[in-house]
Amino acid sequence: MTMIDPVPALRDLCGGAVALPGDDGYDAARSGFNLALDQRPAAVAYPADAAEVAEVIHAAKAAGLRVAGQATGHNAAPLGDVSGTVLVKTSGMRRVEIDPAARIARTEAGALWEDVIDAAAPHGLIALHGSSPTVGVTGYSLGGGMGWLARSHGLQANSVTAIELVTADGQQVRTDAQHDPELFWALRGGGGNFGIVTALEFRLFPLREICAGFMLWDWTEAGRIVTAWSEWAKDAPDHVTTSLRIMQLPPLEELPEFLRGRRIVMIDGAVQGDPAVLDPLRALAPELDTFGTVPAPALARLHQDPEDPMPVMADTALIATLPAEAIAELIDLAGPGSGSSLDAVELRQCGGALRRATPGHGAAAGVNADFVLFMGGLVLSHEMAAEKKGRMLEIKAALAPWTNAGHYLNFAEDQVDMSETFSTDAWARLCDVKDRVDPENVIHANHAI
Ligand SMILES: Cc1cc2nc3c(=O)[nH]c(=O)nc-3n(C[C@H](O)[C@H](O)[C@H](O)COP(=O)(O)OP(=O)(O)OC[C@H]3O[C@@H](n4cnc5c(N)ncnc54)[C@H](O)[C@@H]3O)c2cc1C
Repeated sequence: MTMIDPVPALRDLCGGAVALPGDDGYDAARSGFNLALDQRPAAVAYPADAAEVAEVIHAAKAAGLRVAGQATGHNAAPLGDVSGTVLVKTSGMRRVEIDPAARIARTEAGALWEDVIDAAAPHGLIALHGSSPTVGVTGYSLGGGMGWLARSHGLQANSVTAIELVTADGQQVRTDAQHDPELFWALRGGGGNFGIVTALEFRLFPLREICAGFMLWDWTEAGRIVTAWSEWAKDAPDHVTTSLRIMQLPPLEELPEFLRGRRIVMIDGAVQGDPAVLDPLRALAPELDTFGTVPAPALARLHQDPEDPMPVMADTALIATLPAEAIAELIDLAGPGSGSSLDAVELRQCGGALRRATPGHGAAAGVNADFVLFMGGLVLSHEMAAEKKGRMLEIKAALAPWTNAGHYLNFAEDQVDMSETFSTDAWARLCDVKDRVDPENVIHANHAI
């Protein structure tokens, strides 16, 4: 392929909404949610629609460059080196339409979960969003998508009913159960490997109110609470989804006094149906228990995830089972007296619908684990980053006897071997689809096939 100077080829795309190295807007354009990253793409393009996405792909290919879809950069770390890649940022494509009768949302590729929550709530409908309102619908849905209704409704990927994308040859394609069902299957779990997604359609569920909240203990109780919660969580009915976090909170004025500078264990979650399911947790005598009926949109901020960009680092593992020895290892490395500097070490409760293959599911059928471990925190210096990374690796090594191979890809902040996540058959299917729709590997995804 003849290399041409990418600058003139890209400069006029998207009505001029392109930032190139050296431009005033380049530094702002290349940054995303995780400020610890220093992504330096060949260009950042802001298309307004699918036709502009196609133009970007054609121009990038002609310049010998790759393209990567990016909404918020919440999972930008595994993209790695983007110096030969045009980032296609979809922040100019955030339109959301709700069909209340069909209970379907249609979102442009740059929509955030808060956009959907706000549009669906007046109709008494809710989507299978996750714990952060500012995560992008597209990346979350292509990677799986595990939220507060996960144990009753499964992964968001499997509530997606149609995906529109521009493939590496510049074609605008609509995929669903009838139209290229193999590509539709691959996209739902195989991530952003197959093209630049321009729109999604997915199911909504009727829900106006829900029982949700948190319970809190001092972290000196960590061993007792993790033991009791994990026993309860394994056999809990599908209508409840919870998370347990060991947290070390900074002494920030912004935090309520009961949290400021404290080390705690927190269980939060949502219950559809009889809240008596929480009785065994209430019997653990939490210092604070806020569970009660709330409007369904309140789930968006139940977890109090950070919404503004910040420098962070995280790691994850699939926990097959959590016997007493595993809990002891975890508390030794992340609990009182451990010397850990991790801001949060979280276990998300799996099982329920996450264990069952939804009919018509995509490549991500479910989550093969009792719990997903997610841990990390703020990194303000190289020393902090090294300390946190070392601690996370130690925890993963200590828990290795109880982990499953593979990854919950949405939480994987490193480049991982994607093949470990899928069955041999599913991996072969994903590779076949990738070879068919992107034989020159033009599309650069966070978790590469
Ligand atoms: C604070 C926080 C809370 C989170 N909570 C949850 C949670 O509760 N449940 C859960 O499952 N996950 C959660 N996640 C993980 C989150 O789902 C992933 O980081 C997800 O990839 C973010 O999607 P995004 O589009 O916002 O991110 P981006 O970094 O913009 O995109 C991630 C990847 O998605 C693909 N992609 C995005 N847009 C396009 C496009 N238009 N075309 C093609 N590919 C595209 C690309 O491969 C891209 O590299 C959380 C992450 C954070 C940081």
